[in-house]
Amino acid sequence: MALRRSLLLLLLLLQVLLVTVLSVSAYLAETGRLAGDNVVEVNRSQREFDYFALSLQWPGTYCRGTRHCCSKNACCRGSDTPTQFTIHGLWPDYNDGSWPSCCYRSDFNEKEISTLMDGMEKYWPSLSCGSPSSCHGGKGSFWGHEWEKHGTCSSPVIRDEYSYFVTTLNIYFKHNVTDVLYKAGYVASNSEKYPLGGIVTAIQNAFHITPEVVCKRDAIDEIRICFYKDFKPRDCVGSKDMTSKKSCPKYVSLPEYTPLDGEAMVLKMPTDE
Ligand code: 5GP
Ligand code: 5GP
Repeated sequence: MALRRSLLLLLLLLQVLLVTVLSVSAYLAETGRLAGDNVVEVNRSQREFDYFALSLQWPGTYCRGTRHCCSKNACCRGSDTPTQFTIHGLWPDYNDGSWPSCCYRSDFNEKEISTLMDGMEKYWPSLSCGSPSSCHGGKGSFWGHEWEKHGTCSSPVIRDEYSYFVTTLNIYFKHNVTDVLYKAGYVASNSEKYPLGGIVTAIQNAFHITPEVVCKRDAIDEIRICFYKDFKPRDCVGSKDMTSKKSCPKYVSLPEYTPLDGEAMVLKMPTDE
């Protein structure tokens, strides 16, 4: 009798265990959530994006956070550290402020963009030594991260890795934000503060659209300009959002970057971790 009751109890426990395992795996299949830090969700049911945001980063702000150097980090190029806005990524976005990510599996292959390398190193360098997570578990390069997370969601406008990078470089060259700001008197400075409204107006006058500006405290971190699917400029959705944490104060700075001694730092940190 006691044996029968124990057997029944064991059966019940096994059933509960099975149901739990099945529900967890169903959830994982649905969201594609991956283990590890810097988790990226691979949602398989994402609709087509609405518009593109070209996200540009200001090295003067990003590089101030540089604590150590490695050969791939453009903040460590000494006097060759970039002094213009460089590319962060071309991001397909939705009109409601959200965005798709990691839309299908296409592992980044640097060989596919070997003919673009000079432009990539100069205008789309990584400003960090970190290895970002790829969509499917591993860690990879900044370029790989941008292609897998954002590039794969640019379909049907952009369908492959080479097109993603060459298209992004081309629209970057056609919209020289650094030059627009320079001509309006907004240049890198560690002492000047500029009116945010003046910076936005300079870009509005040049491209007839309102950009999104992201700050780290009072320093401009990123400027995003947005495009319809045919690459005609349009307003960014975030351009009206002045309530978010990343919105800028009324007066902002465009910091110069005092380069670290690149050579010395690379010698101190020989491993590119
Ligand atoms: P952060 O929290 O640094 O603004 O953003 C982290 C990452 O989220 C970005 O590098 C980018 O991959 C993604 N992200 C942030 N804002 C946007 C956005 O407006 N559109 C898209 N597509 N991705 C974004
Ligand atoms: P996102 O913020 O685009 O989703 O992720 C960017 C990832 O790439 C982060 O893990 C970040 O540490 C890494 N990363 C490498 N180089 C850069 C860079 O130049 N800019 C930014 N924003 N992130 C970079």
